[in-house]
Parts: sequence; structure tokens; C-alpha cells
Amino acid sequence: MGDCAPTIARDLPWIGVGDPWAVLVSEVMLQQTQAARVIEPWRRFMESLPTVDACADAPRAVVIALWGGLGYNRRAGYLQDTARVLVEEFDGHVPSDPDALRQLPGVGGYTANAVASFAFGERVGVLDTNVGRVLARALVNRPLGRSEAQRLADELVRGRDSAAHNQAMLDLGAQFCTATPRCHTCPMASRCAWRAAGGPDPAQRSAAVSVRQSAFAGSDRQCRGRIIAVLRDGPTNPDALSIRIAEPRERVERLIAALVGEGLVEYDVHAVRLVDDTREPTG
Ligand code: SF4
Repeated sequence: MGDCAPTIARDLPWIGVGDPWAVLVSEVMLQQTQAARVIEPWRRFMESLPTVDACADAPRAVVIALWGGLGYNRRAGYLQDTARVLVEEFDGHVPSDPDALRQLPGVGGYTANAVASFAFGERVGVLDTNVGRVLARALVNRPLGRSEAQRLADELVRGRDSAAHNQAMLDLGAQFCTATPRCHTCPMASRCAWRAAGGPDPAQRSAAVSVRQSAFAGSDRQCRGRIIAVLRDGPTNPDALSIRIAEPRERVERLIAALVGEGLVEYDVHAVRLVDDTREPTG
């Protein structure tokens, strides 16, 4: 499948950069976020914090502010925690071993394999929901559990250029083998098992691709993002915050408590603020 790379490759700025830190930042940002939304925040982040040491030394509020409108702000905290672990335990370097990467804060199996492959060329399969669809449809034409899908992804990458192959699989799944597949333009169409055999869509019953996100509009996730967005402008108090985002004070208090628990926000008698933000409160 790696030979379809030239025809489907997306133009993303972190591809081929060869800097493990830049790859790690991109992969943490890409967790649960579409690539197109990551491009500008990734550029901004890398301009301000281009090295592990720069991120480890930065005030927390700066790291969270640089996260921009990406959402899931706790990832910003995990990324800085990871930078600090890398400084303390890995001499400021990103490890190439997926098992070592998996021990870092906020780094799961997908991110560990992606960094190992894209930054170091390790021959491990990068399996996200998009790749899971490609494997279930094009390769085996039956539903796949997560561990079997990972095993297949690992087998496919053997003997190939790891980064090029995994990127081609991600691009294929993101652009053609989408939830509603675009088979008529897909470069894999002539070799696709499901297209040849027909029948029910195997991806719909695959554990590797069945994760669905809850609705965003009106969710706590959306409300948390709006709280963080206000605090990027500077510290304020819960009443002003409640008015700014037009949410009841009780809900705002509950979400502030959760953000405090995650180490993103500080709350004392005077103000709510991003961690380490020393500006005077407004509102
Ligand atoms: S032909 Fe259709 S189902 Fe097969 S890999 Fe391409 S988009 Fe997916």
C-alpha cells in the first residue's frame, strides 16, 4: 500500500521535518483534531517553543495560550509535562522506542507509534480510525478488532519506508476511505477487497474504527474551551467569566474546578487565571 503515496499525499507542514520534537508536537495536536485545524497552531507553537527545553521552561499560561483554539486544552499541559520529563530523564531528547514514548504524559499507543515512525523511521504501524477503515475494507473485507488491526498495520510496514507508508495510509483514510467512501476516485480501488467482493461495510462493525465523539455544541468540552479562551486575555473572576460566556455561575464553577484539577487553571479568592499567569485580573 505504500506505493500509493505520491498520488494522495496531503501537504502538511510537519511531514518530513525530521525534528522529533516538531513531530511530537504535531502528533499531540492531532489527537482528536483534524489536520487542517492543526496547521496554524503548530506553526505558532513551533515558532515560540521550538525545542524541548524551551517548552519545559515556559510558563504554563504561555503553553496553554499557544494551544489557541485547538480544544482539549489538557493536551497542552501533558505536552509540557512531557517536555519536562524529557529534560529530566532523556537529556532533552525525544526517545525513538515506542515503549519509552508510551510512558510519557498524554502519549498513547497511536501517538507513540506515529512519533517512532515519522521521526525515527521505526517500522511500527500507525493505527487511527482512518487507517482502521482502510484495513477493514481494502485488506480483509471483514470487521477488525483493535489488536488485530494493529497487528496487520505492523505487518504491512515491514520492509517498507515506515514514514512514507504510514503517511500514505493516513492520507488514504482521510481523503478517500472516509466514513462515506469515495471509491470512484480512490487509488486503491483496483486492489480493494471490499470493492471487489461487495457486501456490508466491514468498517462499520470494526472495533478499531467505531469510536464516536459526543456532540460538541453545548457540551462541557465546548464550555471549557470558551473559559480557556477568556482566560487567555487575562485573569478574571467567576462572575465576569459567567457573563462573558453566557453560562450559569454553577456550571462555570464546576468546570473551573475540573480545570484546576487538571493543572490548567488556578483559582483563588481574587481571580481565576491560567496557571502561572501573573497579570492583574480584569472584569
Ligand atoms: S476503494 Fe473505497 S473502500 Fe476501498 S480503500 Fe478505496 S475508498 Fe476505501
